[in-house]
Amino acid sequence: MTPEPRKQTVTSFDADAIRREFPILSTEVHGKPLIYLDSAASSQKPQRVLDALSAAYSETYANVHRGLHFLSEASTDAYEAVRGKVASLINAHDPAEVVFTSGATMSLNLIAHCYGNTYLSEGDEVLITVAEHHANIVPWHLLGDRVGSRTVAAPVNEDGSFDLDVFKSHITERTKIIAIPHVSNVLGTVFPVREIAALAHENGAICVVDGCQGVTHMPVDVGELGCDFYVFSGHKLYGPSGIGICWGRSDIWAELPPFMGGGDMIDDVETDSSTYALPPHRFEAGTPAIAETIGLGAAIDFVQSIGMDALRDHEMDLLRYGHQRLAAVEGLNFIGQAVGKSGVISFTLDEVHPHDISTLIDQDGVAIRAGHHCAQPLMKFYGLSSTARASVAVYNQRSDFDKLAESLEKVNRIFKG
Ligand code: PLP
Repeated sequence: MTPEPRKQTVTSFDADAIRREFPILSTEVHGKPLIYLDSAASSQKPQRVLDALSAAYSETYANVHRGLHFLSEASTDAYEAVRGKVASLINAHDPAEVVFTSGATMSLNLIAHCYGNTYLSEGDEVLITVAEHHANIVPWHLLGDRVGSRTVAAPVNEDGSFDLDVFKSHITERTKIIAIPHVSNVLGTVFPVREIAALAHENGAICVVDGCQGVTHMPVDVGELGCDFYVFSGHKLYGPSGIGICWGRSDIWAELPPFMGGGDMIDDVETDSSTYALPPHRFEAGTPAIAETIGLGAAIDFVQSIGMDALRDHEMDLLRYGHQRLAAVEGLNFIGQAVGKSGVISFTLDEVHPHDISTLIDQDGVAIRAGHHCAQPLMKFYGLSSTARASVAVYNQRSDFDKLAESLEKVNRIFKG
């Protein structure tokens, strides 16, 4: 399999035209125009993704890999073509390194099972940070229950920035896996994946990257990053839910046993034994999320038609403006202020509970997230139970932060009189 050539986009960035591609963004909530600032949880979908989903069911639908009839071949071709699109997006050299899963959570569990069960044993260590999503914590705990390994977490600095020397001091001769976020879903900190991957390799470990909040906001080149696995979820990248990616180095995949057993992942089956297909199919048991995968392909076409550099520049501008605008709101404290942060702005508002903030501003049509963001260790690190979080996507505009700031001022008036 060969990847599609990496797409370079030279068209100018047209924020209004991009926004018009998302039907939901012209709807109203509580009689107010929707201001959607919760894309880190899940992004909205452009019309072309909705069309691709519909066409996958109404024009080419049949099960994949199994039939010799026209529709099965059309469906298989459309489905398999997405491996090439993913490879192009993250600059993987071989689409066969791209394993389809149901999402980042399944991808990380797959790695913990297939790699962890094979290579880790009693006393070995998995090094993470305190800034992980639970999806990059709990699979390592479950691995520990199976093989006796330990999960060790390195801290971040108070402002959310990352200190490579502190991280380094947590590596021991028992460290076998280093699993880090590309970008924290709470702090927005961009982790230096290249340096961490090099450190992992110098110490005989592999580097697993939770790219959920990375690939959505910036160009990713897995070869340049030097990591061994890079995972993400389609639904955060303007695609459907139910489809995720687990990219891994082909030499690593080649040595790993299957994750789940069933149809599609076999070479030959006897009643008392089986042999398995080559990667990536070895790791893809059962009927996959066919239409959703094809929808993800359309989402990748969408971001590549904009260009990841242009997308990042637009979002960085929004984030700078958002910080500036929110800094003027009385009593607002930012959680996470690392230089170069991406994607999210987490905050608290003096004594107002984040759940109250989110519920009140929802009345103005403003959707943000409030809670622990599936990052309880990080909340505990900061002595908080929850934060409010506004997150950006390519369809947001500066005026969304004007609206958020106005709405937060209203919350202040309600609570402070
Ligand atoms: N990792 C990070 C950083 C996330 O933000 C999320 C979702 O919020 C996940 C992992 C889990 O993704 P999913 O629930 O799509 O598997």
